[in-house]
Amino acid sequence: MDIEGSLDSLERGSVVLLGIPFDEHSSFISGAALAPPRIREALYSDETNLSTESGDDLSRQPRLRDLGDLRLERGAAALAQIEHTVAALLERGARVLSLGGDHALTLPVVRAYARRYELLNILHLDAHPDLYDEFEGDRYSHACPFARIMEEGLASRLLQVGIRTMNPHQQAQARRLGVEVVDMRQWGPGIRLRFEGPLYISLDLDVLDPAFAPGVSHHEPGGLSTRELIRLIQGLETALVGADIVEFNPERDVVGVTAMVAAKMVKELAANMLHSG
Ligand code: MN
Ligand code: MN
Repeated sequence: MDIEGSLDSLERGSVVLLGIPFDEHSSFISGAALAPPRIREALYSDETNLSTESGDDLSRQPRLRDLGDLRLERGAAALAQIEHTVAALLERGARVLSLGGDHALTLPVVRAYARRYELLNILHLDAHPDLYDEFEGDRYSHACPFARIMEEGLASRLLQVGIRTMNPHQQAQARRLGVEVVDMRQWGPGIRLRFEGPLYISLDLDVLDPAFAPGVSHHEPGGLSTRELIRLIQGLETALVGADIVEFNPERDVVGVTAMVAAKMVKELAANMLHSG
């Protein structure tokens, strides 16, 4: 992708789809790096259309710009490249909807966001708290990004929803780092999520029950339904300044169903980002 060329033609208020094919920090199996083209294939497929549930036809939204996939180096250089690219997009007044990739990419993305937005709220939707101090010797593992985000002071508030794998170490980390957790046992239709100030959503698709989204690296039964997740997004009263959709692993998908779930979430998240401030 010629990102530099695209930057010049970007108008303020654009919502940018940015593929980040990166899974070097996956712990159990790789495959998430294959996700961005599969999500796009589902998004633009004749199997469906580009309308959101509220009737907003995204194909008629000139401010929605798909910049394709980042061409990434390996190792630490890739993390720096992700941060640099997102920062350049934010400088042009864009909002970024990243398509992962594994959850490790949220750290460099949020580093860029924190420079632009003081008092950033993060809503983290995931089966896992991703708060390990290190995982299998890797401090940048996809099991660790939210520990780094809080240690670096990148978020004024981190709220995690959908969690159902909290162990004693991560419980201690959540307390130490001031993380708010609404775990899956507490989740219900009566819960209202309220935020003051700019909001970023990090959506790990394994927050969904594997019955709805089998194409993830870590199956964790007992999660949200697709409808509950859509309702949560549609019910937000706060402007989204950015979002990522991570951990879709096409190698574990079944007849493309998870790709279509990811595409659906792209539409609902993009609609919020296009219409908020
Ligand atoms: Mn995660
Ligand atoms: Mn997860």
